[in-house]
Amino acid sequence: MNSIVTAEYSVPDFGELVEVAPGVLWLRMPLPFDLDHINLYILDDIDGWVVVDCGLGNADTRAVWEKVLTGLLAGKPVKKVILTHAHIDHIGAAGWLCRHTDAQLWITAGEQRTAGEYFQLKGADSEYFTATTKGFLHRLGMDDKQSEGIMGIFTGISTLIHPLPENIQALQEDCVITVGNKDWQIIISEGHSEAHACLYSEELGVLISGDQVLPRISSNVSVRPARPEANPLSAWLDSLSRLTRLPADTLVLPAHERPFYGLRGRLTALIEEHRQTLIEVEQACSAPLTVMQLAGLIYKRELPLFNLLLAGGECLANLNYLLAETRVHRQLNDEGVLVFSRSLNQSG
Ligand SMILES: [Zn+2]
Repeated sequence: MNSIVTAEYSVPDFGELVEVAPGVLWLRMPLPFDLDHINLYILDDIDGWVVVDCGLGNADTRAVWEKVLTGLLAGKPVKKVILTHAHIDHIGAAGWLCRHTDAQLWITAGEQRTAGEYFQLKGADSEYFTATTKGFLHRLGMDDKQSEGIMGIFTGISTLIHPLPENIQALQEDCVITVGNKDWQIIISEGHSEAHACLYSEELGVLISGDQVLPRISSNVSVRPARPEANPLSAWLDSLSRLTRLPADTLVLPAHERPFYGLRGRLTALIEEHRQTLIEVEQACSAPLTVMQLAGLIYKRELPLFNLLLAGGECLANLNYLLAETRVHRQLNDEGVLVFSRSLNQSG
């Protein structure tokens, strides 16, 4: 059961700011996707601003930034840009914003590596990146047309990120960043991305959660082409559990939808949802299945191509988790596609 309580702040229009805690401002940026916005947070550092996440590297986002920088934020400089993680809606505009304002970029080393993959598609490594990704999609059971379509989507995504600045500071677990006399502890999690950073202020009772905890959406947890053997779901479940140590009355400021209370209930619901899916996936593998066949069974509807990629990646995350627990086993069939089957020694 999802027992969250939405905080009673009015949702800011694009370019407006809403104060959600002392010195913590909520800003929204448009996204041209089903999910049509991302929440950014701006912290008042007395003699400047600290920005958490940036929006896409496109004209619509830059226009909102220009409006805010010359309007509501005018008079004080942006000193730091902190990224929760390297997904395109968070990192896209960061390079532009840092150059435009002379701010310093802060990101975890793991997310900086992921950011490098956006540039592989454009650079000397593009052939290697394309071959690796297509091989991965083939092993999932995608056909050549689907695979070509997804490569086209990756190419489109890589146009939505500005090059990062040279001057980058590494965020690390438990490091503390002081902003306007308030300490923000960095909490790093894996699973949704390589090394996602949340910011927690004990004094304010506020968690800037990025995509780590969202009020209604379950964040995608996917095996990525660069790390096909990874077990991100195990890391994800551990990271959700670790956040339950935060106080029950923490105000959660997520990257999508609205700020809310009820962190522990939300974490428990997310963990339970994943446990149920694991059981469903294990049972589905009573008959041998490719990853894409499993995605058809689990999602039960036609998915647009990008969602199909997310669904395939998430199914493989479940399967790699079950594989590590020897609840399923895996083979390559004659076409070079992975086939998973429930282990014979499992009962029930
Ligand atoms: Zn994300």
